[in-house]
Amino acid sequence: MDEHGVGFLELPGLGGLSLPPLRSDETLYSWVARYHVLSSNACSRTTSRQLFGNPHAALRTDFPVQLDALVERTAGAFGGAAHIAHEHSAFGAFAPFLGVDLFGKVSQAMRAGDSFAIGRMMGLTTSRIGTPAPLKSCAACADEDVRSHYVAHWRVEQQLPGARVCPKHRVLLRVATESAHSRARRQQLILPHMLNADEWGELPRVCTSVMDALQRIEFWGRALRAKSEQEVRLFETEDLRDTYVRQAAREGWSGGDGRLMFRPMCHQLRSRFAGLEAVPGFEFIAAAHGVTGGFVGSLLRQYPGRQHPVKHLLLLAFLFESPEAFLAAYDETATLAAAERRTLLTEERAGLTQQLKTLVQEQGLSVCRAADELGMTVTLATKCLQRAGVAYGTRPRVVGTDREKQVELMLRRGDDPPLIASSLRVRRSFIKDYLAARPELREIWQNRHFERKRDAYRLRFLTTLAENPGVPIKKIRRLPSNGFQWLYNNDRAWLVENLPGLWHR
Ligand SMILES: [Zn+2]
Repeated sequence: MDEHGVGFLELPGLGGLSLPPLRSDETLYSWVARYHVLSSNACSRTTSRQLFGNPHAALRTDFPVQLDALVERTAGAFGGAAHIAHEHSAFGAFAPFLGVDLFGKVSQAMRAGDSFAIGRMMGLTTSRIGTPAPLKSCAACADEDVRSHYVAHWRVEQQLPGARVCPKHRVLLRVATESAHSRARRQQLILPHMLNADEWGELPRVCTSVMDALQRIEFWGRALRAKSEQEVRLFETEDLRDTYVRQAAREGWSGGDGRLMFRPMCHQLRSRFAGLEAVPGFEFIAAAHGVTGGFVGSLLRQYPGRQHPVKHLLLLAFLFESPEAFLAAYDETATLAAAERRTLLTEERAGLTQQLKTLVQEQGLSVCRAADELGMTVTLATKCLQRAGVAYGTRPRVVGTDREKQVELMLRRGDDPPLIASSLRVRRSFIKDYLAARPELREIWQNRHFERKRDAYRLRFLTTLAENPGVPIKKIRRLPSNGFQWLYNNDRAWLVENLPGLWHR
């Protein structure tokens, strides 16, 4: 089928009506509006009845309804109901954040439900525009559309939550105003080129960093959007929240008392996304501050209401490196049993993982010792370390084994720590800490280490002298590795006592 408008479908079910093809990147609403223009129907109700068998279904600008009827009337020419909902509306980007129950209810409502219940169901229609997915369009795309085929269409990707930049023209998308939406609700099927200039919200001037932030959020939206029912990945509210909380704790925003510190967290979020609050749809960022944390607090606490996907996307882009990293973290949290998860969350919030990491990685303690020190079970400590990506098991523990005895023996001999570390395969930091914790041993080691070093210098110096008989000391001192300077600094008494003749050379 040609997407430029030829190749119309003739469907017997619709009494011989000709249907324009549905573009691959177009919303169903957009297609209905184009059909309405071509049909020359005077009234949108007529169009709606023709296509959906219902006078209002055609007017939904965001999530389509009465899809079963449409599929029947179009003989499945555009695919099944689920396909249309995911592929030709913003639904696929909202779906992941609805949870299993609501996803089922909304999907059913799109097939055959009350046309005005969906927004209410999602609990996201607090904005004055009256829809969680306001109409958006790129001015340059619309101009191109009109030039090439007289009408502009609404593009699915531009309607997704968080989408504010046209990927092709790299400009901000215009958002239709409340009055444009109310015109759409009042029985008018509108397309981008039909809106008056004052029916678009004002566009802020944005700097490069804001454009970058917008592209990052849009990238997250596209990455998590389900383009088909099979692809849909439903996040449960509680699992999602725990995943956020754990990541926030890992990033260091947990206080010692187990509470998250929203103030510094929000401060960093607002500075990372500075300027974004001026972009329509992102005004909520400005309220993210203080101990309650605005939307961040709502997403991370046991907050009863559902939050708009764009808030999730922003937090995700802030907390996680990549969608893959987030999905892995989510899976890990979602598979934890409830009791285990609660313990883990408490431990993590208290920043214990960080302390464990320090003990094991920097101080060379065994997991057992570190867990003991922090008053947690070895199993939990092991899990925390695994999740934090700390390679604790690569070196076998030292304390309490024969290797500890060997370490001590070598230290008593005054061996160099790097040599001990490499020959016994222990960390240098372990030796440092081992000595720091044992002052007596440290003194023995220091003395013995000094003596051995001194003996080596003495020998080196005597050898140099023997190899250069009769050479004046001034010249000896210029020979490589003569050892004189070290002895002069550290062992002068020996020089004076044992080599009195030296000074006259
Ligand atoms: Zn564009």
